[in-house]
Amino acid sequence: MRIGVPKEIKIHEYRVGMTPPAVREAVHHGHEVLVQKGAGFGIGLFDEQYVAAGARIADTAAEIFAAADMIVKVKEPQTAEWKMLREGQILFTYLHLAPDPEQARGLLDSGCVAIAYETVTDSRGGLPLLAPMSEVAGRMSIQAGAHCLEIAQGGRGMLLGGVPGVPAAKVVILGGGVSGTNAARMAMGLEAHVTVIDLNLHRLYELDMQFGPSLNTIYSTVDAIEESVLGADLVIGAVLVPGAAAPKLVTEDMVKRMKKGSVLVDIAIDQGGCFATSHATTHADPTYVMHDVVHYCVANMPGAVARTSTFALNNATLPFTLALADKGYKEALLGNPHLMAGLNIHKGQLTYKAVSDALGVDY
Ligand code: NAD
Repeated sequence: MRIGVPKEIKIHEYRVGMTPPAVREAVHHGHEVLVQKGAGFGIGLFDEQYVAAGARIADTAAEIFAAADMIVKVKEPQTAEWKMLREGQILFTYLHLAPDPEQARGLLDSGCVAIAYETVTDSRGGLPLLAPMSEVAGRMSIQAGAHCLEIAQGGRGMLLGGVPGVPAAKVVILGGGVSGTNAARMAMGLEAHVTVIDLNLHRLYELDMQFGPSLNTIYSTVDAIEESVLGADLVIGAVLVPGAAAPKLVTEDMVKRMKKGSVLVDIAIDQGGCFATSHATTHADPTYVMHDVVHYCVANMPGAVARTSTFALNNATLPFTLALADKGYKEALLGNPHLMAGLNIHKGQLTYKAVSDALGVDY
Protein backbone atom coordinates (compact mmCIF):
# COMPACT_ATOMS: atom_id res chain seq x y z
CA MET A 1 0.00 0.00 0.00
CA ARG A 2 1.08 3.59 -0.54
CA ILE A 3 0.86 5.57 2.74
CA GLY A 4 0.86 9.37 2.72
CA VAL A 5 1.96 11.61 5.60
CA PRO A 6 1.14 15.28 4.97
CA LYS A 7 2.48 18.15 7.07
CA GLU A 8 -0.12 19.28 9.62
CA ILE A 9 -1.65 22.63 8.71
CA LYS A 10 -3.78 23.42 11.78
CA ILE A 11 -2.34 26.44 13.57
CA HIS A 12 0.33 25.63 16.19
CA GLU A 13 0.25 21.90 15.36
CA TYR A 14 3.77 20.48 15.25
CA ARG A 15 2.99 16.78 15.66
CA VAL A 16 3.29 14.49 12.65
CA GLY A 17 1.36 11.34 11.66
CA MET A 18 4.39 9.04 11.37
CA THR A 19 7.89 9.24 12.86
CA PRO A 20 10.92 7.94 10.92
CA PRO A 21 10.95 4.70 12.99
CA ALA A 22 7.26 4.16 12.13
CA VAL A 23 8.03 4.79 8.46
CA ARG A 24 10.85 2.24 8.61
CA GLU A 25 8.44 -0.37 10.02
CA ALA A 26 5.94 0.28 7.24
CA VAL A 27 8.66 0.07 4.59
CA HIS A 28 9.88 -3.15 6.21
CA HIS A 29 6.33 -4.49 5.76
CA GLY A 30 6.66 -3.81 2.04
CA HIS A 31 4.77 -0.52 1.89
CA GLU A 32 5.68 2.73 0.19
CA VAL A 33 5.60 5.88 2.34
CA LEU A 34 5.36 9.42 1.00
CA VAL A 35 6.14 12.19 3.51
CA GLN A 36 5.59 15.87 2.84
CA LYS A 37 8.71 18.02 2.86
CA GLY A 38 9.32 19.52 6.31
CA ALA A 39 6.49 17.51 7.93
CA GLY A 40 8.50 16.87 11.11
CA PHE A 41 10.76 19.90 10.99
CA GLY A 42 9.12 21.65 13.97
CA ILE A 43 10.00 18.76 16.29
CA GLY A 44 13.44 17.97 14.93
CA LEU A 45 12.43 15.14 12.58
CA PHE A 46 14.19 16.05 9.36
CA ASP A 47 13.58 14.97 5.77
CA GLU A 48 16.95 13.16 5.68
CA GLN A 49 15.81 10.96 8.58
CA TYR A 50 12.63 10.08 6.68
CA VAL A 51 14.63 9.29 3.55
CA ALA A 52 17.02 7.11 5.59
CA ALA A 53 13.94 5.28 6.93
CA GLY A 54 12.86 4.54 3.36
CA ALA A 55 10.33 7.32 2.70
CA ARG A 56 10.01 9.38 -0.43
CA ILE A 57 9.67 13.14 0.11
CA ALA A 58 6.91 15.00 -1.73
CA ASP A 59 6.92 18.78 -2.11
CA THR A 60 3.21 19.36 -1.58
CA ALA A 61 0.23 17.95 0.26
CA ALA A 62 -1.60 17.76 -3.08
CA GLU A 63 0.95 15.21 -4.36
CA ILE A 64 0.48 13.11 -1.24
CA PHE A 65 -3.31 13.17 -1.32
CA ALA A 66 -3.27 12.34 -5.04
CA ALA A 67 -0.91 9.38 -4.72
CA ALA A 68 -1.66 7.71 -1.37
CA ASP A 69 -4.07 4.85 -0.65
CA MET A 70 -4.08 5.83 3.04
CA ILE A 71 -3.44 9.20 4.68
CA VAL A 72 -2.03 9.08 8.23
CA LYS A 73 -2.33 12.37 10.14
CA VAL A 74 -2.76 13.78 13.63
CA LYS A 75 -5.42 16.51 13.56
CA GLU A 76 -8.81 16.44 11.89
CA PRO A 77 -8.52 17.41 8.21
CA GLN A 78 -8.92 21.09 7.52
CA THR A 79 -11.12 22.32 4.65
CA ALA A 80 -8.25 22.36 2.13
CA GLU A 81 -7.41 18.79 3.10
CA TRP A 82 -10.83 17.16 2.97
CA LYS A 83 -11.28 18.66 -0.50
CA MET A 84 -8.26 16.58 -1.63
CA LEU A 85 -9.59 13.27 -0.25
CA ARG A 86 -11.11 10.90 -2.78
CA GLU A 87 -13.51 7.96 -3.01
CA GLY A 88 -12.23 4.88 -1.14
CA GLN A 89 -9.10 6.61 0.23
CA ILE A 90 -8.41 5.67 3.87
CA LEU A 91 -8.02 8.51 6.36
CA PHE A 92 -6.55 7.54 9.75
CA THR A 93 -6.34 10.44 12.23
CA TYR A 94 -8.13 12.21 15.12
CA LEU A 95 -11.50 13.41 13.77
CA HIS A 96 -13.72 14.60 16.67
CA LEU A 97 -16.71 14.77 14.31
CA ALA A 98 -19.53 15.16 16.84
CA PRO A 99 -19.15 18.94 17.31
CA ASP A 100 -18.04 19.52 13.71
CA PRO A 101 -20.86 19.09 11.14
CA GLU A 102 -18.94 20.95 8.43
CA GLN A 103 -16.03 18.53 8.53
CA ALA A 104 -18.44 15.55 8.69
CA ARG A 105 -20.18 16.81 5.53
CA GLY A 106 -16.82 17.32 3.80
CA LEU A 107 -15.69 13.78 4.63
CA LEU A 108 -19.05 12.29 3.62
CA ASP A 109 -18.92 14.10 0.28
CA SER A 110 -15.34 12.94 -0.39
CA GLY A 111 -16.35 9.25 -0.31
CA CYS A 112 -13.32 8.44 1.88
CA VAL A 113 -13.07 5.76 4.57
CA ALA A 114 -12.45 7.76 7.76
CA ILE A 115 -11.17 5.94 10.85
CA ALA A 116 -10.96 8.11 13.96
CA TYR A 117 -8.18 7.57 16.51
CA GLU A 118 -10.43 8.70 19.35
CA THR A 119 -13.06 5.98 18.93
CA VAL A 120 -10.73 2.97 18.52
CA THR A 121 -11.21 0.78 21.62
CA ASP A 122 -9.28 -1.92 23.49
CA SER A 123 -10.25 -5.11 25.29
CA ARG A 124 -10.30 -3.37 28.70
CA GLY A 125 -12.85 -0.80 27.61
CA GLY A 126 -10.22 1.91 27.15
CA LEU A 127 -9.43 4.26 24.27
CA PRO A 128 -5.84 3.31 23.41
CA LEU A 129 -5.24 6.10 20.89
CA LEU A 130 -6.44 8.80 23.30
CA ALA A 131 -4.55 7.41 26.29
CA PRO A 132 -1.07 8.58 25.18
CA MET A 133 -2.27 12.20 25.12
CA SER A 134 -3.78 11.80 28.60
CA GLU A 135 -0.47 10.38 29.80
CA VAL A 136 1.32 13.44 28.40
CA ALA A 137 -1.21 15.90 29.85
CA GLY A 138 -1.16 14.19 33.25
CA ARG A 139 2.60 14.29 33.50
CA MET A 140 2.75 17.85 32.21
CA SER A 141 0.13 19.05 34.68
CA ILE A 142 2.59 18.70 37.56
CA GLN A 143 5.34 20.51 35.64
CA ALA A 144 2.88 23.33 34.84
CA GLY A 145 1.46 23.36 38.37
CA ALA A 146 4.92 23.48 39.98
CA HIS A 147 5.81 26.46 37.78
CA CYS A 148 2.54 28.25 38.65
CA LEU A 149 3.31 27.87 42.37
CA GLU A 150 6.26 30.21 41.91
CA ILE A 151 5.79 33.81 43.10
CA ALA A 152 6.39 35.30 39.64
CA GLN A 153 3.38 33.38 38.28
CA GLY A 154 1.11 34.53 41.13
CA GLY A 155 1.65 31.35 43.14
CA ARG A 156 2.27 31.08 46.87
CA GLY A 157 6.00 30.52 46.44
CA MET A 158 6.16 26.84 47.28
CA LEU A 159 8.48 24.09 46.11
CA LEU A 160 6.46 20.90 45.54
CA GLY A 161 8.79 18.63 47.47
CA GLY A 162 9.74 21.12 50.20
CA VAL A 163 13.27 20.70 51.63
CA PRO A 164 14.52 18.98 54.77
CA GLY A 165 12.75 20.70 57.66
CA VAL A 166 10.03 22.28 55.45
CA PRO A 167 6.87 20.32 54.54
CA ALA A 168 6.11 19.34 50.96
CA ALA A 169 3.23 20.98 49.06
CA LYS A 170 -0.16 19.25 49.10
CA VAL A 171 -1.25 18.05 45.65
CA VAL A 172 -4.85 16.90 45.21
CA ILE A 173 -5.80 15.09 41.99
CA LEU A 174 -9.48 14.77 41.07
CA GLY A 175 -9.85 11.62 38.95
CA GLY A 176 -7.46 8.67 39.09
CA GLY A 177 -7.72 7.54 35.44
CA VAL A 178 -4.97 7.78 32.84
CA SER A 179 -4.10 11.46 33.26
CA GLY A 180 -4.68 11.47 37.04
CA THR A 181 -2.43 8.46 37.57
CA ASN A 182 0.34 10.02 35.49
CA ALA A 183 -0.02 13.27 37.43
CA ALA A 184 0.17 11.37 40.71
CA ARG A 185 3.29 9.54 39.59
CA MET A 186 5.08 12.80 38.71
CA ALA A 187 3.98 14.55 41.90
CA MET A 188 5.18 11.63 44.02
CA GLY A 189 8.47 11.67 42.11
CA LEU A 190 8.93 15.29 43.20
CA GLU A 191 8.13 14.20 46.77
CA ALA A 192 4.93 16.21 47.17
CA HIS A 193 2.16 15.07 49.51
CA VAL A 194 -0.25 13.50 46.99
CA THR A 195 -3.94 12.58 47.22
CA VAL A 196 -6.10 11.09 44.47
CA ILE A 197 -9.89 11.37 44.70
CA ASP A 198 -12.02 9.11 42.50
CA LEU A 199 -15.58 7.86 42.31
CA ASN A 200 -14.49 4.41 41.19
CA LEU A 201 -13.63 2.35 44.27
CA HIS A 202 -11.97 -0.36 42.21
CA ARG A 203 -9.67 2.25 40.64
CA LEU A 204 -8.72 3.55 44.11
CA TYR A 205 -7.94 -0.03 45.14
CA GLU A 206 -5.67 -0.47 42.11
CA LEU A 207 -3.88 2.82 42.81
CA ASP A 208 -3.40 1.86 46.44
CA MET A 209 -1.90 -1.50 45.41
CA GLN A 210 0.30 0.17 42.78
CA PHE A 211 1.75 3.03 44.81
CA GLY A 212 1.41 1.90 48.44
CA PRO A 213 1.66 4.35 51.32
CA SER A 214 3.21 7.20 49.31
CA LEU A 215 -0.22 7.88 47.76
CA ASN A 216 -3.38 8.81 49.66
CA THR A 217 -6.64 7.72 48.04
CA ILE A 218 -10.05 9.16 48.93
CA TYR A 219 -13.51 8.24 47.68
CA SER A 220 -15.13 11.16 45.84
CA THR A 221 -17.86 12.99 47.77
CA VAL A 222 -18.67 16.70 47.95
CA ASP A 223 -17.37 16.64 51.51
CA ALA A 224 -14.06 14.98 50.63
CA ILE A 225 -13.49 17.29 47.66
CA GLU A 226 -14.21 20.42 49.70
CA GLU A 227 -11.94 19.44 52.58
CA SER A 228 -9.08 18.36 50.28
CA VAL A 229 -9.28 21.33 47.93
CA LEU A 230 -9.33 23.87 50.77
CA GLY A 231 -6.16 22.34 52.21
CA ALA A 232 -4.37 21.96 48.86
CA ASP A 233 -1.56 23.98 47.32
CA LEU A 234 -2.07 22.44 43.86
CA VAL A 235 -5.27 20.82 42.54
CA ILE A 236 -5.29 18.85 39.27
CA GLY A 237 -8.65 18.34 37.51
CA ALA A 238 -8.45 14.98 35.69
CA VAL A 239 -12.00 13.62 35.73
CA LEU A 240 -13.90 12.23 32.77
CA VAL A 241 -17.48 11.10 32.41
CA PRO A 242 -17.42 9.46 28.96
CA GLY A 243 -19.58 11.25 26.42
CA ALA A 244 -20.54 14.06 28.84
CA ALA A 245 -19.29 17.46 29.91
CA ALA A 246 -16.93 17.35 32.89
CA PRO A 247 -18.76 17.60 36.24
CA LYS A 248 -18.07 20.88 38.10
CA LEU A 249 -16.60 19.28 41.20
CA VAL A 250 -15.07 22.48 42.61
CA THR A 251 -17.55 25.33 43.08
CA GLU A 252 -16.74 29.01 42.85
CA ASP A 253 -17.36 29.27 46.59
CA MET A 254 -14.67 26.63 47.22
CA VAL A 255 -12.23 28.48 44.95
CA LYS A 256 -12.87 31.71 46.92
CA ARG A 257 -12.01 29.87 50.14
CA MET A 258 -8.79 28.27 48.81
CA LYS A 259 -5.41 29.49 50.06
CA LYS A 260 -4.18 32.66 48.37
CA GLY A 261 -1.67 31.73 45.66
CA SER A 262 -2.75 28.12 45.38
CA VAL A 263 -3.00 26.63 41.87
CA LEU A 264 -5.68 24.86 39.81
CA VAL A 265 -4.66 22.92 36.68
CA ASP A 266 -7.77 21.83 34.76
CA ILE A 267 -6.80 19.02 32.38
CA ALA A 268 -10.50 18.31 31.82
CA ILE A 269 -10.97 21.76 30.26
CA ASP A 270 -11.40 20.11 26.84
CA GLN A 271 -14.67 18.72 28.22
CA GLY A 272 -15.67 22.06 29.76
CA GLY A 273 -13.50 21.83 32.88
CA CYS A 274 -14.16 20.50 36.38
CA PHE A 275 -13.66 23.78 38.29
CA ALA A 276 -16.51 26.32 38.17
CA THR A 277 -14.01 29.13 37.56
CA SER A 278 -12.19 27.49 34.61
CA HIS A 279 -12.12 28.87 31.10
CA ALA A 280 -9.93 27.58 28.28
CA THR A 281 -6.51 29.20 27.79
CA THR A 282 -3.72 28.74 25.24
CA HIS A 283 0.00 28.01 25.43
CA ALA A 284 0.61 31.63 24.43
CA ASP A 285 -1.20 32.86 27.57
CA PRO A 286 -1.77 29.77 29.73
CA THR A 287 -2.80 31.18 33.11
CA TYR A 288 -5.05 33.71 34.81
CA VAL A 289 -5.71 34.54 38.45
CA MET A 290 -9.23 34.49 39.85
CA HIS A 291 -10.10 34.84 43.55
CA ASP A 292 -6.33 34.88 44.25
CA VAL A 293 -5.99 31.36 42.78
CA VAL A 294 -3.81 30.72 39.71
CA HIS A 295 -5.68 28.84 36.95
CA TYR A 296 -3.92 26.87 34.18
CA CYS A 297 -6.53 25.62 31.66
CA VAL A 298 -4.79 24.84 28.35
CA ALA A 299 -7.03 22.67 26.18
CA ASN A 300 -4.25 21.08 24.09
CA MET A 301 -1.49 20.51 26.62
CA PRO A 302 0.31 17.81 24.53
CA GLY A 303 0.91 20.42 21.81
CA ALA A 304 3.59 22.03 23.99
CA VAL A 305 5.62 18.83 23.99
CA ALA A 306 4.84 17.85 20.41
CA ARG A 307 7.91 15.69 20.00
CA THR A 308 7.15 13.45 22.98
CA SER A 309 3.46 13.46 22.00
CA THR A 310 4.27 12.40 18.43
CA PHE A 311 6.37 9.43 19.52
CA ALA A 312 3.78 8.44 22.15
CA LEU A 313 0.97 8.63 19.59
CA ASN A 314 2.96 6.64 17.01
CA ASN A 315 3.62 3.85 19.51
CA ALA A 316 -0.14 3.48 19.88
CA THR A 317 -1.21 3.99 16.25
CA LEU A 318 1.51 1.99 14.47
CA PRO A 319 0.02 -1.52 14.96
CA PHE A 320 -3.27 -0.27 13.52
CA THR A 321 -1.58 1.60 10.67
CA LEU A 322 0.30 -1.58 9.76
CA ALA A 323 -2.84 -3.75 10.00
CA LEU A 324 -4.70 -1.38 7.66
CA ALA A 325 -1.80 -1.33 5.21
CA ASP A 326 -1.01 -5.06 5.37
CA LYS A 327 -4.56 -6.36 5.08
CA GLY A 328 -6.45 -3.51 3.42
CA TYR A 329 -9.11 -1.72 5.40
CA LYS A 330 -11.93 -4.25 4.91
CA GLU A 331 -10.05 -7.26 6.25
CA ALA A 332 -8.33 -5.19 8.96
CA LEU A 333 -11.64 -3.80 10.26
CA LEU A 334 -13.56 -7.08 10.00
CA GLY A 335 -10.75 -8.88 11.81
CA ASN A 336 -10.56 -6.46 14.74
CA PRO A 337 -13.70 -5.10 16.43
CA HIS A 338 -11.60 -2.52 18.29
CA LEU A 339 -10.31 -1.04 15.05
CA MET A 340 -13.82 -1.34 13.59
CA ALA A 341 -14.99 0.90 16.47
CA GLY A 342 -12.84 3.60 14.90
CA LEU A 343 -14.76 3.62 11.62
CA ASN A 344 -16.73 6.89 11.58
CA ILE A 345 -17.42 7.32 7.86
CA HIS A 346 -17.50 4.77 5.04
CA LYS A 347 -17.85 6.00 1.46
CA GLY A 348 -20.51 8.65 2.06
CA GLN A 349 -22.20 6.88 4.98
CA LEU A 350 -21.89 7.86 8.65
CA THR A 351 -21.05 4.67 10.58
CA TYR A 352 -20.64 5.85 14.18
CA LYS A 353 -23.81 6.12 16.22
CA ALA A 354 -22.75 8.79 18.74
CA VAL A 355 -21.62 11.05 15.89
CA SER A 356 -24.84 10.50 13.93
CA ASP A 357 -26.89 11.25 17.09
CA ALA A 358 -24.89 14.44 17.69
CA LEU A 359 -25.18 15.61 14.09
CA GLY A 360 -28.72 14.38 13.37
CA VAL A 361 -27.45 12.63 10.23
CA ASP A 362 -28.65 9.12 9.21
CA TYR A 363 -26.57 6.26 10.58
P1 NAD B 1 -10.01 8.54 32.35
O1 NAD B 1 -11.33 8.03 31.91
O2 NAD B 1 -8.81 7.67 32.21
O3 NAD B 1 -10.10 8.96 33.90
C1 NAD B 1 -11.14 9.75 34.41
C2 NAD B 1 -11.35 9.39 35.86
O4 NAD B 1 -12.29 10.33 36.41
C3 NAD B 1 -11.95 7.99 36.07
O5 NAD B 1 -11.11 7.21 36.92
C4 NAD B 1 -13.30 8.28 36.72
O6 NAD B 1 -13.71 7.29 37.66
C5 NAD B 1 -13.02 9.63 37.38
N1 NAD B 1 -14.23 10.38 37.75
C6 NAD B 1 -15.37 10.56 37.05
N2 NAD B 1 -16.25 11.30 37.76
C7 NAD B 1 -15.64 11.59 38.94
C8 NAD B 1 -16.02 12.31 40.10
N3 NAD B 1 -17.22 12.87 40.22
N4 NAD B 1 -15.12 12.40 41.12
C9 NAD B 1 -13.90 11.85 41.02
N5 NAD B 1 -13.49 11.14 39.96
C10 NAD B 1 -14.35 11.01 38.93
O7 NAD B 1 -9.80 9.94 31.62
P2 NAD B 1 -8.41 10.61 31.19
O8 NAD B 1 -7.93 9.94 29.95
O9 NAD B 1 -7.52 10.69 32.36
O10 NAD B 1 -8.90 12.05 30.76
C11 NAD B 1 -9.31 13.02 31.72
C12 NAD B 1 -9.67 14.32 31.02
O11 NAD B 1 -8.50 14.90 30.47
C13 NAD B 1 -10.62 14.13 29.81
O12 NAD B 1 -11.55 15.18 29.81
C14 NAD B 1 -9.69 14.23 28.63
O13 NAD B 1 -10.38 14.64 27.45
C15 NAD B 1 -8.78 15.31 29.15
N6 NAD B 1 -7.52 15.52 28.40
C16 NAD B 1 -7.15 16.82 28.26
C17 NAD B 1 -5.95 17.13 27.66
C18 NAD B 1 -5.55 18.57 27.59
O14 NAD B 1 -4.64 18.89 26.81
N7 NAD B 1 -6.12 19.47 28.36
C19 NAD B 1 -5.15 16.13 27.10
C20 NAD B 1 -5.56 14.81 27.25
C21 NAD B 1 -6.75 14.51 27.92
